[in-house]
Amino acid sequence: FACHASQDDPSTRNDELPVHGLSEMIVGVLGGGQLGRMLCQAASKMAIKVMVLDPQENCPASSLSFHHMVGSFDDSATVEEFAKRCGVLTVEIEHVDVATLEKLEQQGVDCQPKASTIRIIQDKYMQKVHFSKHAIPLPEFMPIYDLEGAKRAGKLFGYPLMIKSRKLAYDGRGNAVAKSEEELPSAVDALGGFDRGLYVEKWAPFVKELAVIVARGRDNSISCYPVVETIHRDNICHIVKAPANVKWKIMERATEVAYKAVNTLEGAGVFAVELFLTSDDQILLNEVAPRPHNSGHHTIESCYTSQFEQHLRAVVGLPLGDTSMKTPAALMYNMLGEEEGEVGFHLAHQLIKRALTIPGATVHWYDKPEMRKQRKMGHITMVGPSLGNIERNIAVMIEEKELDHK
Ligand code: ATP
Ligand code: MG
Ligand code: MG
Repeated sequence: FACHASQDDPSTRNDELPVHGLSEMIVGVLGGGQLGRMLCQAASKMAIKVMVLDPQENCPASSLSFHHMVGSFDDSATVEEFAKRCGVLTVEIEHVDVATLEKLEQQGVDCQPKASTIRIIQDKYMQKVHFSKHAIPLPEFMPIYDLEGAKRAGKLFGYPLMIKSRKLAYDGRGNAVAKSEEELPSAVDALGGFDRGLYVEKWAPFVKELAVIVARGRDNSISCYPVVETIHRDNICHIVKAPANVKWKIMERATEVAYKAVNTLEGAGVFAVELFLTSDDQILLNEVAPRPHNSGHHTIESCYTSQFEQHLRAVVGLPLGDTSMKTPAALMYNMLGEEEGEVGFHLAHQLIKRALTIPGATVHWYDKPEMRKQRKMGHITMVGPSLGNIERNIAVMIEEKELDHK
């Protein structure tokens, strides 16, 4: 990016280099939650302008964005109006009005990743069909339309049986487990009934959950981040350890599956591939997110290029950055709402106070207007010489917080 030397001689000036920020393109992001917020933070380093579309006036990304359009990313007219103002359209959530994105693409609007990718991913059943067609290893699955069908699936796959809603799932809110045939009706009811659109997955007896963030540039170059281990509590991401403590062979296999999966999807950006590791060292794909992801938050402090910077580089057409870690180890701890309202804020504050005294810890607070139980309110990333060292620090932080609570 040495553009100064050529200023005197216009003939040697590279016209592709932007005059102001690293890209003149305004990046439009559908959704203004914590992922949108962290995209804005990365964008500010590169002087890239990010506009967000989110219905909530004080959403986490609002105050950090170049512009916040208040409106629904699930409403056709609003998305069209928003798209007119952006150079490239991307997402921080997959539950958007994809039919409008497809229409806009036909009219020449630049969507990254492509609307076809969002369409496949936002319906988890369709996603599974897509990946199985491409020979990506998955837990067995089938659609269910009524109780008889659910019982047939139970006979075929055994129990516990994982029932999932095809659409609008996040943080496990579209999942219900039936431990036996008797539990099928209540599990289906908990998901809102068959009309919601359900499918089942065979239980994956995983020993660990892994994830790989894969970035693809506009030139189709692909780059993978180190494999991480994700630990969920009540279906919600709780802790991420980087790098994952698994054999080299497993790292390779996980990266290969993630690479292969993303290679079947169209468009630029970062993708998160959630994986199961089974006791016989198999890697199975759980799901893919077409955007920055909770399993990649640690990259802000631990990698040369954060997943957020990488996503922006990818969608505006800059070269992808180095995905390797610059610290030996990192651990990300999600701050989930423990109690509603003021009590919840107080508890989080106690934890943050502890974290601020620990070397290598960085606190991210998303500034969500309301504290709710189990809601992702912020996260803490700790970097250090080894996972063992960091885990000792985390233990101190959590214990202290619990002492304060008493
Ligand atoms: P996210 O917030 O990641 O989008 P989600 O709501 O889409 O989550 P999933 O990723 O499908 O939900 O599942 C959440 C968690 O439930 C997984 O991380 C895993 O711990 C568990 N899980 C999902 N599918 C299975 C399965 N087939 N067998 C066993 N456990 C599973
Ligand atoms: Mg999901
Ligand atoms: Mg998931």
